[in-house]
Amino acid sequence: MKTKFIFVTGGVLSSLGKGLAAASLGALLQTRGLTVTIQKLDPYINVDPGTMNPFQHGEVFVTDDGAETDLDLGHYERYLNVPMSRKNNTTSGAIYNHVIAKERRGDYLGATVQVIPHITDEIKRMVLSLAEGDTAPDVAIIEIGGTVGDIEGLPFLEAIRQLRTEIGRDNCLNIHLTLVPYLRCAGEHKTKPTQHSVKELLSIGIQPDIILCRCEQSIPVEMRRKIALFCNVDEDAVFSSVDVSNIYEVPLKFYEEGFDQKVAIMLRLPARNAHLESWEKLVHDSANPHGKVTIAIVGKYVDLKEAYKSLHEALIHGGIANRVAVELRYVNSENVDDSNAASVFAGCDGILVPGGFGYRGVEGKIAAIRHAREQKIPFFGICLGMQCAVIEFARNVAGLADANSEEFDAQGANKVIYLMTEWFDFRTRNLETRDASSDKGGTMRLGAYPCRIVEGTRAHAAYQQAQVDERHRHRYEFNNAYREVLGAKGMVFSGTAPDDSLVEIVELPDHPWFLGCQFHPEFKSRPMQAHPLFREFIHAAKTQAGA
Ligand code: GLN
Repeated sequence: MKTKFIFVTGGVLSSLGKGLAAASLGALLQTRGLTVTIQKLDPYINVDPGTMNPFQHGEVFVTDDGAETDLDLGHYERYLNVPMSRKNNTTSGAIYNHVIAKERRGDYLGATVQVIPHITDEIKRMVLSLAEGDTAPDVAIIEIGGTVGDIEGLPFLEAIRQLRTEIGRDNCLNIHLTLVPYLRCAGEHKTKPTQHSVKELLSIGIQPDIILCRCEQSIPVEMRRKIALFCNVDEDAVFSSVDVSNIYEVPLKFYEEGFDQKVAIMLRLPARNAHLESWEKLVHDSANPHGKVTIAIVGKYVDLKEAYKSLHEALIHGGIANRVAVELRYVNSENVDDSNAASVFAGCDGILVPGGFGYRGVEGKIAAIRHAREQKIPFFGICLGMQCAVIEFARNVAGLADANSEEFDAQGANKVIYLMTEWFDFRTRNLETRDASSDKGGTMRLGAYPCRIVEGTRAHAAYQQAQVDERHRHRYEFNNAYREVLGAKGMVFSGTAPDDSLVEIVELPDHPWFLGCQFHPEFKSRPMQAHPLFREFIHAAKTQAGA
């Protein structure tokens, strides 16, 4: 087997940036000429995060092959610029689901099915699947979700413990990310939480090879020595992961520490020197903008920024491409109506309505869109945002006062957005009843689909391509019965399914920049290559701001 494995565990507490650390290490190894993939193992019982409230779990990231995954996969794609797939994320729920299905089929031939070996074997199978085939990467980084000490994480840790012996010590590396707090009153870094966390890991039989210490400031040599001594690692295998204001600086900081070099040496990787020019340019460009734009994001999950992770990043990428800083103003749509829109959006150079589910806050989104359309403020609607733009246009321009989405008004006379069942036939569920609510898992149109772009439109000016692939996550869709009436009033359908059966992009030509898309372009935006629609939206906002 050519692939070498790096297992990343976390200790002390969550939110230390394990995903970003894994992605940054992967990016550095890539610049050294290695091929890299990353997999996230999530210990929760949900089969995937698709049914989880964004307040709980943050964004659901969608891959080309239609998997609903952990938001860390977004970081992996943004840092590695390689598409992830359903192979790159699994959960306890998915593992158990699989094992239980096998048990019901009788595949275990009468054996008692247990966590060890059946669950752990299934985990190992998922991990090793990354190393299969001709395209197996040089390095597979496996990030274990949660914190060492969590009961639910134990089968994953046991699986990686076993893998170390099975694939050989030379082919695996354990990296443990911990917190090393700086106590201001004592004036020093504290290593005790790290010692405890490593002790916990050792009690499970895992000896970390590298300790990565999340800290406010770089950890002094004597502290590193102490951590090395108490955690049985080499002195030069203790690294700092310092707080940064720009997440794209992390690879450069790791490089300065010599982190990737140590990894390459320990795993005997055929690595060349790192090439960091593109990362340096990225950090330089984002640190030196020539102006600023303010973008309002009008949504429901405004208190938890993680819920709009990819969107946030895509807007930042659009800013970098246009050399402007992007200030994001999160607006709770429940607080917006026609009477206060002018004051709520005062000083905004662009308004964005993102994806979402359910009726709560929808009328506020529609009011925000009306304001953007009438006041000629650049507008970008994504998924639900596009659907709301269609409803707004139908109500206020085409005179269909009761226009709505079937999601919000199932009995309404003018369902300009409606539930399409076309993709249900391959997802099979609820076909007869047309009821998407009985089993919320697995009833959506998910993953990448082709979209044909109409020439002479803003969409075409952005993409400069006749056909694109974009990722979807929705149940409802533009109702084709309204194409003619809305088209006659000036709405342009600039992106459709190649057979013209579905409207994927709408826009208004009589406006500085007003575009809505049924797909989620934010998933495909990259720091070094902003998504064309985000680049053009920010460009329009920049013109609006006179920046
Ligand atoms: N709720 C809408 C639908 O299901 C939009 C979904 C979304 O914005 N991702 O079609």
